[in-house]
Amino acid sequence: MTNSDIKFQDLKHIWHPCSQMKDYETYPLIPIKKGQGVWLEDFDGNRYIDAISSWWVNLFGHANPYINQKLKEQLDTLEHVIFAGFTHEPAVRLAERLVALTPEGLNKIFFADNGSSAIEVAIKMSFHYFKNKGRIRPTVLSLKNSYHGETIGALSVGDVALYKETYNEILIRSMQVLSPALCDEETALKDLEAVLQKESDHICAFIIEPLVQCAGYMKMYDPSYITKAKALCERYDVHLIADEIAVGFGRTGTLFACEQAGVTPDFMCLSKGLTGGYLPLSVVMTTDDVYQAFYCDYGEGKAFLHSHSYTGNPIACAAANATLDLFENESVIEKNQRLIRSMSEGLARFAELDCVEKIRQRGMIGAFDLKGFAPERRIGMEVYEYALSQGVLLRPLGGSVYFMPPYAITPEELDRVLSVAYEAVKSLRP
Ligand SMILES: *Cc1c(COP(=O)(O)O)cnc(C)c1O
Repeated sequence: MTNSDIKFQDLKHIWHPCSQMKDYETYPLIPIKKGQGVWLEDFDGNRYIDAISSWWVNLFGHANPYINQKLKEQLDTLEHVIFAGFTHEPAVRLAERLVALTPEGLNKIFFADNGSSAIEVAIKMSFHYFKNKGRIRPTVLSLKNSYHGETIGALSVGDVALYKETYNEILIRSMQVLSPALCDEETALKDLEAVLQKESDHICAFIIEPLVQCAGYMKMYDPSYITKAKALCERYDVHLIADEIAVGFGRTGTLFACEQAGVTPDFMCLSKGLTGGYLPLSVVMTTDDVYQAFYCDYGEGKAFLHSHSYTGNPIACAAANATLDLFENESVIEKNQRLIRSMSEGLARFAELDCVEKIRQRGMIGAFDLKGFAPERRIGMEVYEYALSQGVLLRPLGGSVYFMPPYAITPEELDRVLSVAYEAVKSLRP
């Protein structure tokens, strides 16, 4: 197919995610021919640096030779098998490794196949845990401005109006407390404690995105909030769910964000970077305490009966194992320190620009907000278009411009990303 064939046939049939389809009249689709490392290449030979890791999933570049090799080996061995009553080596190896790498005490793993499903699993497990103990706690507590995915349960516990508001009438029960990313920590903790004190009889879990509310416009907060929130959850006997779907696997500078708070949550949800950006896969990790609340004779009816057809897919597990090999063999967390410094230097320059505020960074995530533009103006799209014309893929969230590059990026390529963003912002007419 030619470039224009693909575009034409695509719009004839395909409904894209996170899109007003009419927008494609103004901002045409870009068919991508191939990817290599941090670069994406279209049919006209234009190359773009994937500075947002294709929606935060890619860690070691596109068409990574090592991951490719491991996938080919797995493909010739076992592509898939039912995961009830059967098991396989890639899943077992992955489970062992994740238990060793995640905070102490997360000994059990439940597989699902995307981030939102992992959130659904964690919510159901937490609710079901209390039910198995004779307590009905139908409400999930979360932070204002949080995002946990877009299936009904996950959407319900999130708080970004853009995704949620339309569906208000069909959502499950949730409550939101002040986010430490939007007010001072003490105020946020007081709000959390007040709600727990009053409502904990109805609340099974408190769910957070540790350190960075990513889809909530890349708002950041300190690890001390998590440490103190965990203590409050313990005091009121409410589960803590750490949604590390976006921040896990090195994004915040440590392998997992919870490490910085020294906290073991009751549930940890992982996806996105888990397979290095190759295949859909997610896991919910939990404690022996939670697991034991479901473990009994069949007739007692306490089992967790959640299932997805592709649970624990061996090819996806092989991609995850290859990704963990790369973390181990190439000291990625230490090597990223250099990139983190480059990003911090590059970000500092934006302070010169009058229309930039709230420059912030947590590890491999950098962001700033644009200010002073008319609210109806789609300022992020202007940045997107300019950057694309200069060979960089950025996708601002509203007026928040952010960088979340693959770890395979070189300091020079990262400089290029930041300079293009700088020029893009400078070129904006007031
Ligand atoms: C992306 C994301 C999800 C949802 O994952 P999907 O695979 O897109 O369903 C949930 N939580 C957070 C924090 C995310 O960034």
